[in-house]
Amino acid sequence: MEHKRLIIAVDGYSSTGKSTVSKRLAARLGYTYIDTGAMYRMVTYRVMRDGILRDGQVDDDRLKRLLAGMTFDFRYNALTGCHDAYLDGKNVEEEIRGLAVSNQVSLIASLPRVREVLVAKQREMGREGGVVMDGRDIGSVVFPRAGVKFFMTASPETRARRRHEEMMGKGETVTYEEVEANVRQRDYTDAHRAASPLVKTADAIEIDTSRMTIEEEVEQMLAVIHARHARGN
Ligand code: C5P
Repeated sequence: MEHKRLIIAVDGYSSTGKSTVSKRLAARLGYTYIDTGAMYRMVTYRVMRDGILRDGQVDDDRLKRLLAGMTFDFRYNALTGCHDAYLDGKNVEEEIRGLAVSNQVSLIASLPRVREVLVAKQREMGREGGVVMDGRDIGSVVFPRAGVKFFMTASPETRARRRHEEMMGKGETVTYEEVEANVRQRDYTDAHRAASPLVKTADAIEIDTSRMTIEEEVEQMLAVIHARHARGN
């Protein structure tokens, strides 16, 4: 039986493994995966590169012009089997994942002007359903009526360790302490900002990733989705 193609929202703190499980979940369901964090990272990268952010201050006129002209897309990379982030037609995967962008992204993501533009683009991308979208505000703001909402958690230490291993694996020279400080700072900023702060909505299903393998997480999430389908929605 053909099921309705749902919008699956996956929110949670940084480095809870949201993107890894979301990618696998999307592949299992035949859905499209959308990494909204990459979009905030792309804006941050351009803001830094163009000198729009100076001494913690953003030039609002230039930001407005920048946002009006930016294009975002995700293209399949046959070498990695993943979708890479493209900004204005250029692959920026490497540039957006480093600590320089990670240290500024929560500041840029707290600006209402940035959120307004990116939320509109995300709604457009998910309009037809059949998407797994990960971020901080997908179930609360972008798609409050998403078919299924998940909220991923894990202790800060577990998350910092995972992120550190990932960055070292990519050849970045960064200490565990620097990564842990960044994870904690982003958690704080994301949860305390005025514009769509990170919250677990009442209807979101919490998945604690501290003691589960990725496969176990994916199976647990698929079981929830299948139960939703069985109920006819
Ligand atoms: O998911 P990722 O860790 O790559 O996201 C980077 C940052 O982008 C987060 O720390 C958060 O500040 C911001 N973000 C957001 N809303 C989203 C996705 C990401 O504010 N939907």
